[in-house]
Order: sequence, then C-alpha cells, then structure tokens
Amino acid sequence: MNTRIELLPPDIRPYRASTSGVDYVHVFASGRPGPVVMVQALTHGNELCGAIALDWLFQQGLGRSLMPLHGELIICFANVEAYARFSPADPNASRCVDEDLNRVWHDSVLFGPGDSLELRRARQLQPFVDRADLLFDIHSMQDACRPLMVCGLLDKGATLARELGMPGDLLIDTGHPSGLRMRDRGGFGDPASPKNALLIECGQHWEQSSADVAIDSLVRFLKLSGMVDTSWADARLRLPLPPKQQLIRVDQAVTALSADFHFLQPVRGLDVIARAGTAFAQDGDTVFTTSYDNTVLVMPSLKHGKPGNTMVRLGRFDPT
Ligand SMILES: [Zn+2]
Repeated sequence: MNTRIELLPPDIRPYRASTSGVDYVHVFASGRPGPVVMVQALTHGNELCGAIALDWLFQQGLGRSLMPLHGELIICFANVEAYARFSPADPNASRCVDEDLNRVWHDSVLFGPGDSLELRRARQLQPFVDRADLLFDIHSMQDACRPLMVCGLLDKGATLARELGMPGDLLIDTGHPSGLRMRDRGGFGDPASPKNALLIECGQHWEQSSADVAIDSLVRFLKLSGMVDTSWADARLRLPLPPKQQLIRVDQAVTALSADFHFLQPVRGLDVIARAGTAFAQDGDTVFTTSYDNTVLVMPSLKHGKPGNTMVRLGRFDPT
C-alpha cells in the first residue's frame, strides 16, 4: 500500500452521548421557528474529512457558545462502527461493515426484512433524516479528483449548490442502481418538495485538502441556511470561492464485464475526452467509446473491476 495518509482520524468518542436518544446524533434547537438542518459525516467510515469538520465545529463551541440562530441543527456521525475500525494500514477496509450505508434509503429496504449493521444504523437515523428540510452529507473520494458536489437527480440540488457558491464542479446524476442514497430520499428527491440536499465529495480520502474543503463547505452551508451569522462564518472561511461553477449532467454508467476491465490511458476524475468515438476502456473484446464530444469522466475507479461494478460514469457539461 503506497497510499499517503495526511489526515488523522479524530477521536469522536466524546460525541457519543447525546440527548437525542441516538448515539452520535445531536439536536440543537434554537427555540425559534426555522428550518431543520442536518449535517452528516461518516456515511462511509473511511472518509475522515467529515468527522474532522464536525469535530472542528464542536471545538468552535457548538452546543455551548454556538447555537443555531433559528430552527434546529442536527449533527450526525453516521457509520461510527465502520469508522471505529479505521486503520491507516488498510484504510479502505472501513468504508462499511456489512453493506454500503448510502444504498439503503428506499422504504422497501429501510422498512423491509433485511438486517445488517448499516441497516440498523439507518433505521436509527431515519426519523432525523425525514425531519430535515436541508441535508448536507460530507464525503471524500477514493481517487484524486477536484472537489465536486453530488446534487442528486434534480435541478433544485444544483440551484442550492450555486447558492452555496462552491465547489467548482456540480453533478446531476442518475442515482445508484444498487440502492437509494440518503440524499435522494423522500422530499429530497421530489421536485415538488421544498426540501433539498447536497452531498459534497471533498477530495481524496487522505488528503489534507479534503479536510479544508469539508470545513469550508460546512461553514458556508451553515451560513447559507441561516444557522450561524455571517460574521461568525466569514471569520472562519479559509478557501476562496471558485471563479465559476460548471454543471455536469451524468447520463451513462460504464460497468465492468470482467476483471479485465481497464482504461486505455491514464485517467483522473473529471478528465474530459474531446472527441466522440474515442476508445477509452476495454474489457475482453469489448471496447468502450465516447458517444459525444467533451465527455467528462466522473469518478473513474482505478481498482480492478468485478462484473457489474460501475467503473466510471460519463457526462457532459451543461451549457448554462
Ligand atoms: Zn462516501
């Protein structure tokens, strides 16, 4: 393993006890009307930046000198069991324990007969998620890539990300065939609902920059939702806004047929292939080619494929 780990996992055990009735979930009520805003870290147990950002927020006095200005603020460390197994010697092993926590959010799964450590945790978190008007879910990525915002399937997600002003790359995608994400659940995935959610991918899992992006995006989200005042937020911002934001609409997933799947040139997330008809990957006798100019490669997986694994998603820049 030659992965360089620049981040240390913070000790989150001080945040276990809460008055919410669920460990590692904290509800701060302002006593004034306003939105219910939920911020979540550790949907995936090996994505340290979100835990670092929430730990930082507590260190700023959250729950003591710092309380939401209106509505309620829910702070959640999600897959704490997976996180507890994090080891720098095998940092990828702690993404989840039994299954991906971010694929279990359809009612048929959540309230179905299945059982796993993640399903049990999701069932604990569901009442908080369903109460939230705004959700901010903090993630990081396996491979090096500019930060990007997963805005969901609907344009209202991209609208909210534009109000946030960062990161530079916004994604509208087609969801995950293997299960509903939290950010697409209920009103978040309903164009008629005023509820809205954002999932930020802050950078590569172990890079210091992912923690900086996580803290900055958290501060901006709290400011945008009116949870903190502008002067508090502005004093804590450390990164400039990108000069512009560009929206990528994902319309295709490329799936491995076998372990032979491989890219035909070195690839990095958000690379653009200029010409339609360009071969970019091969799997046995099958060659994958782009079907339009300026195809964007979204989160290409550099791991060996297994049949059925999504290896890359393809999209194009929105002209707006
Ligand atoms: Zn993640």
